Amino acid sequence: MSFAELWRELEPLGRDPETAGYRRYSWTPADAECRTWFTRQAGRLGLTVEQDRNGNLWAWWGSRDAARQDAVVTGSHLDSVPDGGGYDGALGVASALAAVAELKAKNFNPERAVAIAVFTEEEGARFRVPCLGSRLMTGAIEPGAARGLSDDDGITLAAAMTAAGADPSLLGPDDDLLGRIGAFVELHVEQGRALAPMDAAIGVAEGIWPHGRWRFDFTGRADHAGTARLADRNDPMLPYASTVLAARRLAAEHGAVATFGKVIAKPGGANGVNSAVRAWLDARAPDDNVLQDTVATIRSAAEIPAKEHGVTLTVRQESYTPLVRFDEGLRDRVTGVLTAAGIAAPVLPTAAGHDAGFLAARIPTAMLFVRNPTGVSHSPAEHAGEADCEAGVHALALVLEDLAG
Ligand SMILES: [Zn+2]
Repeated sequence: MSFAELWRELEPLGRDPETAGYRRYSWTPADAECRTWFTRQAGRLGLTVEQDRNGNLWAWWGSRDAARQDAVVTGSHLDSVPDGGGYDGALGVASALAAVAELKAKNFNPERAVAIAVFTEEEGARFRVPCLGSRLMTGAIEPGAARGLSDDDGITLAAAMTAAGADPSLLGPDDDLLGRIGAFVELHVEQGRALAPMDAAIGVAEGIWPHGRWRFDFTGRADHAGTARLADRNDPMLPYASTVLAARRLAAEHGAVATFGKVIAKPGGANGVNSAVRAWLDARAPDDNVLQDTVATIRSAAEIPAKEHGVTLTVRQESYTPLVRFDEGLRDRVTGVLTAAGIAAPVLPTAAGHDAGFLAARIPTAMLFVRNPTGVSHSPAEHAGEADCEAGVHALALVLEDLAG
């Protein structure tokens, strides 16, 4: 089973024909197609596939029950952001399957169980809390709160899971499963452009910047775009617009990044002043203090124009993920394996969140990055060259062989 063969089958699933972007939202038909694809491919490799209580898939090479704090796990996610790229998450899953195929082809016999995990709702594109599957598994979110999360159509996670044939009453921390894992290594397409100038196909993660999402609600008063005098308006769009610009300026001042990527204006008529603007701020920074400070100053900056326009502002934190430092021992071991094989693998920080960040709180965790020549991600333009993907598979196989041998 080659990487190219796996990729050809996975590539069309959940892709929008107009935008060429992916819409693989969790617990939708596209998600079900991806799950079926994974289960079939894992079955071809002779792996045993199960769905855990949180909807994550696990394909076991060797007995799950025999694993006692020593299973070697790799994998990533198959869901996408709206019109996302094909590599984010999917590359890690396809590479994991191809790496196991490579090890099986050379008759490697693992002494420790090896598993491939596919985490659900990593992007938070549907239920707005990223890494939901790994958060639930590690107890980082209360199961009742998770069940009540709803999508843009008001469908709760519980209802969506039930409709897809999963049981939401089982959601919650999975200490039994976590207790079987000795190491987790996630391979991921690089989201940024650090490897290309270094002429390296593979990188190793140092840690993950803290990041979070905040919902800004600007509430004004709906009015007529023609007859309402400018001075009489309470237009929530104006303080929102000032806040977008302030976020950009304040992020730059703090050495952070801040993005308003999603906004809903209501009622949204082209000839009316809106009554409300709801927008989501995504902010990330090198450490927790800088991030908190960045968001606090953006919030203060939003309050001034809100007051000026007679608009009320509320800000609610929807998710927060603190700084993650990956296990140094495992990182050195991974780097050592790659260096010994003649693969230069520089160590990089990242500002993107990953399931590995949640697992890192409980088990030694590492990440491999595969070069992204343009650095573009969360877009149909996201790309990794085929030779680099193959190099990633080989690097992952070497690491699994070392850890499970
Ligand atoms: Zn991802």
